[in-house]
Amino acid sequence: MIRIHQLKLAIGCTEEDIKNKIIKVLKINNNELEEYFIVKRSIDARKKDNIQYIYVVDARVKNEERVLKRAASKDIVKAPIEAYLMPQSGQMELKTRPVIIGAGPAGLFCAYLLAQSGYAPLVLERGETVESRTKKVEAFWNGEPLDVKTNVQFGEGGAGTFSDGKLNTMVKDPKGRIRKVLETFAEFGAPSEILYLNKPHIGTDVLKTVVVNMRNAIIEMGGEFKFGCQVTDFVFDGDRIRAVKTADGEEIAAQNVILAIGHSARDTFRRLHELDVDMQQKAFAVGVRIEHPQELINFAQYGEKFMDKLPAADYKLTARSSDERGVYSFCMCPGGYVVNASSEEGMLAVNGMSYHARDSRNANSAIIVAVRPEDFGSADALAGVEFQRKLEGAAYRYGGGSIPVQLYGDFKRRSVSTDYGDVLPCIKGGTKFADLNDILPDYICNALKEGIDYFGTRIEGYSRYDAVLSGVESRTSSPVRICRDDGFESSIKGLFPCGEGAGYAGGITSAAVDGLKLAEEIIRRYKPL
Ligand SMILES: Cc1cc2nc3c(=O)[nH]c(=O)nc-3n(C[C@H](O)[C@H](O)[C@H](O)COP(=O)(O)OP(=O)(O)OC[C@H]3O[C@@H](n4cnc5c(N)ncnc54)[C@H](O)[C@@H]3O)c2cc1C
Repeated sequence: MIRIHQLKLAIGCTEEDIKNKIIKVLKINNNELEEYFIVKRSIDARKKDNIQYIYVVDARVKNEERVLKRAASKDIVKAPIEAYLMPQSGQMELKTRPVIIGAGPAGLFCAYLLAQSGYAPLVLERGETVESRTKKVEAFWNGEPLDVKTNVQFGEGGAGTFSDGKLNTMVKDPKGRIRKVLETFAEFGAPSEILYLNKPHIGTDVLKTVVVNMRNAIIEMGGEFKFGCQVTDFVFDGDRIRAVKTADGEEIAAQNVILAIGHSARDTFRRLHELDVDMQQKAFAVGVRIEHPQELINFAQYGEKFMDKLPAADYKLTARSSDERGVYSFCMCPGGYVVNASSEEGMLAVNGMSYHARDSRNANSAIIVAVRPEDFGSADALAGVEFQRKLEGAAYRYGGGSIPVQLYGDFKRRSVSTDYGDVLPCIKGGTKFADLNDILPDYICNALKEGIDYFGTRIEGYSRYDAVLSGVESRTSSPVRICRDDGFESSIKGLFPCGEGAGYAGGITSAAVDGLKLAEEIIRRYKPL
């Protein structure tokens, strides 16, 4: 096939338009084009009066060699083969089936590949199935008490289930694993456009269905799930794992344990630390969420002519504070909601989510400031967790158990807001006006103010007085890294740290990719069961 890059077409173009463009750039006749596939579509919004789609397509044509020879250029090349290759099985005997702790993206994709390859994995998930989890999370957002076992962080599907389901990742993977992840999401119900959109997203409403379909497929292929099953302890024989223990006292023999526990499994981090499993502090970032009318962002990104012709616009903003800290937008949710994403009693953390339609009236994003181990005030590997807990505890107190909110102008004046302006929040969970300066350290608040004011020079109206802030955004990535060697093994043989919680991923797709890597490692070592 021939791959064509930089194929520019108007917004609203039809399949016929794409076909005609391919025929034109390859200088062929209509009947020479057999078929084409969209590899990538992105939006070029640099010229606001002429916003275009940029396509990458693969075209199957008659007389391919001759056509390519005549049309070859930097944008017209032979299409590369980018298939994911299933790993070859090893020769060692498995004494027990692989045990995976956590049914987030890392655990699910690890289980999926192991099940597909005949290793019948057992997945232990402390939270409940996505169906009952959805009810519990909605009830919590409507004022019911927090369920510390099943919430926005814990339960089938992991942290990303109540999210915007953005699938773009900075990770580069030469083995085609990212494609494998996207194809798997599409196979289980995600819209096929995720396979070619430059910034694919699923949306929480669709993601839940995908998770259930994936679970059922894993079970059909011999895998097993135990929900409401929290691993609370680990049994070692010298420097090798022998079993895991669950909260209800069950001991499960396990030769290989994949630790896909996510960034909020603080009690599990604590137990592993007590057992001297090697781990270290890891830098991350904290801050607030900010809301603006989505229209303001659409106008800034697309201009008047196109703002109603394109999907809800996103943005990516970065700055550096006067004390040399990175300040940046993170997990931006177009047409989304700010959510109460807490998982611990007396603690309050926020995050963002959108439905597939991205049709709420507001755009929201975390604005976060980089924090580093020296900010944690102790050398303990879990000092970053305590740093998060200190902020979340303050947010809980000043918010009276609800999400503390403040208008940006009042944040700058260090005064508690009394009412909203024109920006009415889209928040899932109760709220209370509070001064976020009382919750976050001064160096974070100062960096946020410098950053947001600077962003106001990038997007007109971004630093408006009545932009709505809510806090705290503290679970941006894992505060620890559980050390692993080139064979993905921790300081305990047979214990494999995986995904975001272990400090090897950030986001749904990169966590899923790490899950695939761990499954490949098990498959490379052992014969299928
Ligand atoms: C509200 C929200 C929105 C987000 N939006 C996006 C987005 O749009 N795009 C994106 O790329 N990323 C997003 N993220 C981040 C993304 O969700 C994570 O990066 C990703 O889920 C990490 O996957 P994981 O499998 O490593 O861990 P997790 O998804 O955190 O899964 C870990 C699982 O392990 C379970 N577990 C933990 N401890 C134990 C134990 N002891 N025993 C048994 N089970 C245990 C937990 O219950 C959990 O289900 C969002 C996160 C949140 C909270």
